[in-house]
Amino acid sequence: MHHFPIFLRLAGQPVLVVGGGEIAARKVELLLRAEAAVTLVSPGLCQALSRRAGAGEIKHLLEEFQPEHLDGMRLAIAATNRHSVNAWVAHQAETRNIPVNVVDDRELSRFIMPAIVDRSPVIIAVSSGGDAPVLTRRLREKFETLLPESLGTLARLAGELRATVKRRLTDPAARRRFWESFFDGPLAADIMSGRATELHGLVGQALSRAALSEKSIGEVSLVGAGPGDPGLLTLRGLRALQNADVILHDRLVSNDVLEMARRDAERIYVGKRAGEAALTQEQINDTMIALAQAGKRVCRLKGGDPFVFGRGGEELEALARNGIPFEVVPGITAAIGCAAYAGIPLTHRDHAQALIIVTGHTREDLHSAIDWAALARPNQTVVFYMGLGTLEACTSRLIAAGAPADRAAALIEDGTRPEQRVITGTLATLVRQAAAAGVQAPALLIVGEVTRLHSTLQWFNTAVAHQIRNGVLAGPLAAHQGSHGRLSA
Ligand code: SAH
Repeated sequence: MHHFPIFLRLAGQPVLVVGGGEIAARKVELLLRAEAAVTLVSPGLCQALSRRAGAGEIKHLLEEFQPEHLDGMRLAIAATNRHSVNAWVAHQAETRNIPVNVVDDRELSRFIMPAIVDRSPVIIAVSSGGDAPVLTRRLREKFETLLPESLGTLARLAGELRATVKRRLTDPAARRRFWESFFDGPLAADIMSGRATELHGLVGQALSRAALSEKSIGEVSLVGAGPGDPGLLTLRGLRALQNADVILHDRLVSNDVLEMARRDAERIYVGKRAGEAALTQEQINDTMIALAQAGKRVCRLKGGDPFVFGRGGEELEALARNGIPFEVVPGITAAIGCAAYAGIPLTHRDHAQALIIVTGHTREDLHSAIDWAALARPNQTVVFYMGLGTLEACTSRLIAAGAPADRAAALIEDGTRPEQRVITGTLATLVRQAAAAGVQAPALLIVGEVTRLHSTLQWFNTAVAHQIRNGVLAGPLAAHQGSHGRLSA
């Protein structure tokens, strides 16, 4: 971060602007919106500025800049069309520790001014630190179209209500819940669309309801985080993450997904780390129950989908037994995510009419519970979760159960993540290939002829794909590449 973003309260504060042209006029306009006390130094003035000076909105000194003009100033802006003057102003301001902005010169500037979207009291400021002004302008335009004018009304109303809400709801968590349901709810929608009347009465009723349930029990959102790429999180999952007081997460949840949680939410890691003991399922359940009983909103975040080899069912049973309210937010399970990012269609009219998802977990009793003859049949795709440790057993049992040794199969390591690797082979060759490549968990085993399509349909992690994913390329080139369904390196 090259610039530290802050919002400065300038009302009544002295600010010096040096320069009398159009650019200075634009800066002055902005400063006046923030109610700053502007002093302008310039031997000449453009029309807009002389109007303002005439109306007494700014103090105008009809002279060349002198260092003493900076005395007592909070900020200074150099906006003349002479570089030497601007540099001189910047130098003088710097020696006095007065933050200075030199128009169009970030080297000389101590602070820069962002592109803004003004829905006062809500202000969105966008900056690229001067690297890409056109990009920041585009972003600003997006925000402009996204945010209705009435957003400001809504925020102002919230400001008026703050003190009342604080008095009525003493518990900070209850207050936050109130505001979240306020902004997500029908009342805010009515205000935004200009339909609301009797606002204070309606808010009063909402507050009374919230006050009644203030001491009530928390709740648990069981959320699927998807296989790794944060773009695969659902909108509901994102909301649950941002509403949570506490997040309990597993090993498989990627950091990129966790990044999207509310900054001040407590995070509890409940997965296994190499060499460390994990919490037992019992302990995880107890933690969740205790937190919810203490009124917390818990987000139980699991890799992939919580109901696919995620023990989500067991956790919910424990919650149900204890009368804790819960919701389930599905996630993209590893089979769906990894197959997509590996360019392996799980079904295909020519190759696979069925899809089987199965665990390759090491426990012997589980293995004997699997119907290997059914898995060995042709014209289907079989996806093994947790099958890396038992890769040898899985492939050899399939062959023993009648699958041809040259049936195609693939391993996907770190699927949907930047490090994703895809190894394709056959039931006979995959064990050797995996060992040679040093494949590590998490990895998914896909068995079936569809895996052969990877060589034609792979698109992820090729050079261009990488750039598109990171938003470096957008527009016609990206659209063109995308429309071919395939990206060449
Ligand atoms: N609930 C999860 C699965 C948990 S079991 C889901 O729906 O995806 C853990 C197994 O999932 C791993 O052993 C691996 O086989 C698979 N897996 C999960 N994420 C993966 C990823 N990003 N890449 C490859 N395999 C993954």
